[in-house]
Amino acid sequence: MPFNSILSQEHIVDYFRHAIENQHLSHAYIFTGQKGLGKTLFAKELAKALMCQNKKNGHCDICRNCIRIDEHRHPDIHWKILDKKDKFLKIEKIRDLQYTASLSAVESNCKIFVIKDAERMNEEASNCLLKTIEEPTSNTFFILIANSLSHLKETIISRCQVIRFKPIHTKVIKDQLIRKLNCDGEDIEWASKFCCGSLGKAFELLEEGFFKKNNDIVKRLSGLNAENNLICAKEFLTFSSGTFNSLEEIRQDLKNFLNCMLLYYRDILIFKIGNTNDTGKESLSLFNANHRKVIQIQSKRTDLNIIMKIIDEILLSITYLDYNVNVNLLIENLITRISILHPNLEEPEPDSC
Ligand SMILES: [Zn+2]
Repeated sequence: MPFNSILSQEHIVDYFRHAIENQHLSHAYIFTGQKGLGKTLFAKELAKALMCQNKKNGHCDICRNCIRIDEHRHPDIHWKILDKKDKFLKIEKIRDLQYTASLSAVESNCKIFVIKDAERMNEEASNCLLKTIEEPTSNTFFILIANSLSHLKETIISRCQVIRFKPIHTKVIKDQLIRKLNCDGEDIEWASKFCCGSLGKAFELLEEGFFKKNNDIVKRLSGLNAENNLICAKEFLTFSSGTFNSLEEIRQDLKNFLNCMLLYYRDILIFKIGNTNDTGKESLSLFNANHRKVIQIQSKRTDLNIIMKIIDEILLSITYLDYNVNVNLLIENLITRISILHPNLEEPEPDSC
């Protein structure tokens, strides 16, 4: 797989092609951008470009080095990956990195260390890494992969070259989903919009059947009232706790739920404020195009201020999810607040789903 197969990141591909050609590589990089943009894949591609035995157009993908890099078993490429059950990268992993970095490469002329979820290093691990990056041995490269820079120490960021990955265009994501899954449908269309430019997230959403869950959420919200609010909250929580092991996974799933709710009210809002341009066509596309009729009815029945208040409530709950709050209470409170704000409606007939 040559560099140019990295989706929508031409600025990064060009930068590294140039840096390799001119031997201007920095010893430490941070690859940053939301999950699912190809940061880890690109770290692998860069490693291949540096270690391939037939460096034609970057790398060949078929030599012994390329194959071992793909399979994570090249002795001079060291991956430090957060264990699923852990909240933080263990200090032992960074100490091990520090020790290995001090040794010579096993068989290549360089060593590469890739640290995934680098923003999940605590103070102790960060300091240990900082020391290692500050005193690099020659031909040693560090690649820190982080969804955001906000939890990385400023002293680490300042010693690395920051490479920012851009969200992938919706159409590019849709084409990839159709090609890789060999099918097309409403779920593909929805996932390519809902994933916010992350191909990885689009695949996850489809794998977890989130399109169907989104349809259930729209149905529930369109029929929400002060009598069924707690039942509705319980249902939402049941959806999220069924298949996940850790609290972290439940929170992540609930975040997807809250985003579904947010986009439902966003669709209502754009109908409310008028969504047609001079030619009479819709200016913004709906996330829930398959529920157009329901959304239209709700937008007519709900006051603009109420819609804005509901959106604020959901945004606030999304923020609270990152704190150590009781998720059951959070969802119950949110649904109750929305049900109070909502006009008391008869459930409209959904047009599909
Ligand atoms: Zn190769």
